[in-house]
Amino acid sequence: MRLPVDVDGSRGEGGGQILRTSLALAIITNRKLRMKRIRAGRKRPGLQPQHLACVKAAARLCNGKASAPGGGELEAGMQELELVPGAGMQPVLEIDIGTAGSTTLLLQTIIVPALASGLALRCVVTGGTHNPMAPPFEFLDRVFAPHLRAMGGKLTFTLEQHGFLPKGGGKIVLEIAPSKLAPIEVLTAGPIIARRATAIVAGIPRHVAEREIAMAEERLDKPVCEIREFAKLGPHNLFMAEVELASGVRELCTAHGRKGYPAEDVADDALDMLEDFLEAGVPVGEHLADQLMLPLAVAGGGRFRCADLSLHARTNLETIQAFLDLPIRTEKHASGFDVIFG
Ligand code: ATP
Repeated sequence: MRLPVDVDGSRGEGGGQILRTSLALAIITNRKLRMKRIRAGRKRPGLQPQHLACVKAAARLCNGKASAPGGGELEAGMQELELVPGAGMQPVLEIDIGTAGSTTLLLQTIIVPALASGLALRCVVTGGTHNPMAPPFEFLDRVFAPHLRAMGGKLTFTLEQHGFLPKGGGKIVLEIAPSKLAPIEVLTAGPIIARRATAIVAGIPRHVAEREIAMAEERLDKPVCEIREFAKLGPHNLFMAEVELASGVRELCTAHGRKGYPAEDVADDALDMLEDFLEAGVPVGEHLADQLMLPLAVAGGGRFRCADLSLHARTNLETIQAFLDLPIRTEKHASGFDVIFG
C-alpha cells in the first residue's frame, strides 16, 4: 500500500463532500485515509448518522476497515477516522442507513470506486431518496448517470420505493457491469428539446402538487407533467423542473416545500433556478459541476463548462488533488469556467 493520505475536513467548505470524496479516492488509490476535523464547518460537526453510513459502506465495498484513530469503534459525532482499504471488492452490498439519511449521497461515495474497479456491483440502499440538500433520485438517474455512461460506465439506477424525511424507508438499486471510465468533454449546451415537471406529495394534499404543476405549465413551454402522490409517507412535498438540451445534457432543479410556504413559491424557486441555468448557456449546472469532478479526475482527463465554481466545487477539487497527481486547472470562459483535467 502507498503512503497514507491526511485530509483536514475543515478546509474550504468543511462539509460532508470532503468525506465522501476522500473515502472514494482512498479506495481507488488503495491508500490509507486519515481524516481529521470532519465536517468542522457545519453547525453539528463530525460524523452524523448518514455520514457514518457512507464510511461503513465504503469500508464494506473494498473489504477494508474503518475505525477511530488507534482502532476504536466509530461513533456518531466523531471528528476523526481512519480507513484502510482491503483487497478486492464486494460484488453485492445491502445497506440500510436506518434513518432518512440520503441514499443518493451514500451512492455518491461508492459509484466511482465501483466503476473504477472494473468489477460488477449490485448495491441496494435504504433510506431517504428525496432529501433536501442532496440530489433527488431523478438527478442521479437522469442528469448524472448519462455522463457516466458517456464515459463508458455501465450502470443503472432503479427507484424501488420513495423515502422521505422523517422516516426514510426508500430504496434505490444500483447495478454496475464491468466498466472502464474514459475522459469526456461536456462543453456545449444548445436549445431546449424537452421539458419535464414533477410534483411529489407524501401525506400532503394533492392540490399542493396541482398548484406546482400549474406554475410549471405557465412558465415552461408544454412540459411533460407528473404528479406522484403517497398517502402513507411523509409529510413531504417537492417539485422538480427539468430540461434536456440539444447537446444531450440535462439539468434538474429541485425545491422542497415547507410549512407556511405557498406551493406556487416552491415551484417558482425551482423554475427560477432552471431559468438561471438556461440564461448562463452552459451545459453543466452548479450541482453537476461538483459531482462530475471525481469521475473525470479518475478517468485522468476531460473537461466541462459551468457558469461558476462554488466554494463547494472548489473544495472538492482540492480534496481530489490531495490524492491524485493529476493536473487540474480552470480557464475563464465568456460564459463561465472550463474545468480541465489532465
Ligand atoms: P453537510 O451536512 O456537511 O453539508 P452533506 O453530506 O449534506 O454535508 P454537502 O457537502 O453539502 O453534503 O454535499 C451535498 C451534495 O449534494 C453535493 O454533491 C451537491 O452537489 C449535492 N446536491 C445538493 N442539493 C442538490 C440538488 N438539489 N440537486 C442535485 N444535487 C444536489
